Amino acid sequence: MGDTLILPGFVDAHSHTFQRALRGRAAGGDFWTWRETMLAEAERQTPELVRVSYEETYRELRAAGYTAVGEFHYLGLAEAFAAVEAAAAAGVELVLLHVAYARGGLPRFRQESVAAYLAEVEQLREAGVRVGVAPHSVRACPSDWLAEIGRYAEREQLPLHVHADEQPQEIEECLAEHGCRPIELLGRTRCLGEQTTVVHATHADGSELDLLAATGTTVCACPTTEADLGDGFLPAQRMRTRTIPLCIGSDSNVRIDPLEELRELEGIARRQTGRRGVFTTEELLRFGSETGARALGLDAWPGIEVDLGHRSLAGVARNDVPGALVAGCGADVVMAPN
Ligand SMILES: [Zn+2]
Repeated sequence: MGDTLILPGFVDAHSHTFQRALRGRAAGGDFWTWRETMLAEAERQTPELVRVSYEETYRELRAAGYTAVGEFHYLGLAEAFAAVEAAAAAGVELVLLHVAYARGGLPRFRQESVAAYLAEVEQLREAGVRVGVAPHSVRACPSDWLAEIGRYAEREQLPLHVHADEQPQEIEECLAEHGCRPIELLGRTRCLGEQTTVVHATHADGSELDLLAATGTTVCACPTTEADLGDGFLPAQRMRTRTIPLCIGSDSNVRIDPLEELRELEGIARRQTGRRGVFTTEELLRFGSETGARALGLDAWPGIEVDLGHRSLAGVARNDVPGALVAGCGADVVMAPN
């Protein structure tokens, strides 16, 4: 048994696990052409397929050091239960972020009313599933749904996760419909706060960032997916200045590597500022673990062991190991779970 370093497990605060199947496909076009391919993959999902394929991907996540996952789930209730079973079989802590979808997308994503949506959430909770509420986006949920879901999350003390400001088109549509930007609409509908995580926030402007900071809202960045989809760059330095809590997600699972997500976060910040070490190693490792756990409402999640005998750590002094992990290692330094 070689020398190892024990760390808190990484927390994947945002996964659409079925999208793992899309890697290497759907090249070309833009986000919206990718979305057509994604919708076709979503359409063919069944509880049986979710049960089998999610277990495989959750095992990959676990092997990469993610010991807890927030599954942002919009494929239907039977598939939600299948995802819960798959995570248990793979040995990852799962929080099922059950998605509210009022309009657009596929018929299978949608509930006929916000009451019907909350009834589904109640069903999951009654079955003992750890859940969060997740209005998909301001694109998919009108403001009365957002307000109702915001009230429910506050009353029930549940995490609330929502996509916002991933693509400029979403912002233009929100301005046209509501006369304000997506994160401003989330503020007006009382969906922001310490229990809330906004996923992406790539194109958030200064006043939206101020709103996130003032309400204690967390941002979940998914840099490898955001790069793959041509979303843009997280305003990393501007978030840091405002001390907005950050966590990470594997999102489309085009890559499964928490160290790479963290390295990308810091890399984006360096490219934007011309400085090195915009985030400290401790901050980055906290984004990858504790902040994600808090975003999912988890108090405890399994730790991991890093193989100090791994070739990519050869010659690195013990004190420099955390920095070397973030700067130059892949997830293969994580020991296999026993
Ligand atoms: Zn997403």
